[in-house]
Amino acid sequence: MAFRERLSVVQAYRFALDLTARQERVVLAHAGAARVAHNWALARVKAVMDQRAAERTYGIDEAGLTPTQGWSLPALRRAWNQAKSDVAPWWAECSKEAFNTGLDALENWSDSRTGKRAGRRVGFPRFKSRRRSTPSVRFTTGAIRVEPDRRHVVLPRLGRLKLHESARKLARRLEAGTARIVSATVRRDGGRWYVSFTCAVQRTQGMPACPDATVGVDLGVTHLAVLSTGEVEPNPRHLDAAARRMRRLARRAARRVGPDRRTGRRASKRWERASARLGRAHARVAHLRRDGLHKLTTRLTREYGTLVVEDLNVAGMLANRRLARRIADAGFAELRRQLAYKTGWNGGRLVVADRWYPSSKTCSGCGAVKTKLALSDRTYTCTTCGLVLDRDVNAARNLAALAATVAGSGPETRNGRGADRKTPLAGPVAVKRQPGTATAGKTGTVPPQGRTSNHELTYAS
Ligand SMILES: [Zn+2]
Repeated sequence: MAFRERLSVVQAYRFALDLTARQERVVLAHAGAARVAHNWALARVKAVMDQRAAERTYGIDEAGLTPTQGWSLPALRRAWNQAKSDVAPWWAECSKEAFNTGLDALENWSDSRTGKRAGRRVGFPRFKSRRRSTPSVRFTTGAIRVEPDRRHVVLPRLGRLKLHESARKLARRLEAGTARIVSATVRRDGGRWYVSFTCAVQRTQGMPACPDATVGVDLGVTHLAVLSTGEVEPNPRHLDAAARRMRRLARRAARRVGPDRRTGRRASKRWERASARLGRAHARVAHLRRDGLHKLTTRLTREYGTLVVEDLNVAGMLANRRLARRIADAGFAELRRQLAYKTGWNGGRLVVADRWYPSSKTCSGCGAVKTKLALSDRTYTCTTCGLVLDRDVNAARNLAALAATVAGSGPETRNGRGADRKTPLAGPVAVKRQPGTATAGKTGTVPPQGRTSNHELTYAS
């Protein structure tokens, strides 16, 4: 039974950097070059599109129109190389990789439109401003390596950069030959510089300690997560203090004179200082939370064969303006992303409950569904069977029970009825399964339904 698959995965390793003032200037110059190339190419593509539209209104036939500007990286690069002496006479001072970084986003958009790029649709590119965009530059060729001391990395043009932390995890893999660096990106995030290595990694698929066990995971606001086993996963250390500090800084920034687009008012120096501090505090909260989630998801995927989470309307929820909610919601997306790839690494499977599955409103004891449950009710009290249980534990148990119905259903019990908002637990429930996280056949799943491309829909009763 100890069958272990070899997996080739793309994995990112990110390390905080301690840049010298000179190195920071070079990175900023390269990021600026990327922005100039990006803005130039976007303006050029737009101008050609407008020109062709205008020519059509004059009645010029298709053959006589100004030729289109290709969106592919080679086409944009050719056009940029012809124009760079005029647009950026200083071009020789920067690595050509900086300009490629800028031209890339345009190719991403056209690839996404034509379906060449997987995942969520990429929006039409926008002009990048010096003040609002995050400085970043990516290197794909040249000297990219981790130094033997594991505390320094070497990048083209930038030379030897000091790491703020040890790169031993990546260095071990590079030395063993199980990882190869594909690219390196230097980026500023919340006032700190980071280098992120995209690597092609060879992994041996693991095996969960309890392959037949299932756990439901419900993310919380006051704590990190609640499991169907009743375990409450506390927030990572320092997170509450960091979140308090962030709220205080947000209030302080709000009392100072900020920029106003309509009146053209410039931000005060005091506002700029306050909002820079807020940005750093914000990044710290995000990092602490992500670290906590990494520890949790690693532990869970090594232990349990099946994990169940809720499918939340993350895009819709991110529009929510309340700070605490927004942080929690970003956590949902992150939890799901981490579980999806880690179940793949560890040979488990991830079940994502349908958005309308009433995990909070259903009684995990008898299956009765409440019509209303206020968010302030922290305890679930069932009027049918008298069960009294922590609200989040109840929800997590329902999620875990959902996986059992999927795994246990044979092919003959499948039916095509989908779930709706009021479906009780006992009835048919729709379950979305993450692609590639389970072995088809064993789990009683049906083939993809055709209309969805990146999710398999499974119906179980
Ligand atoms: Zn009940």
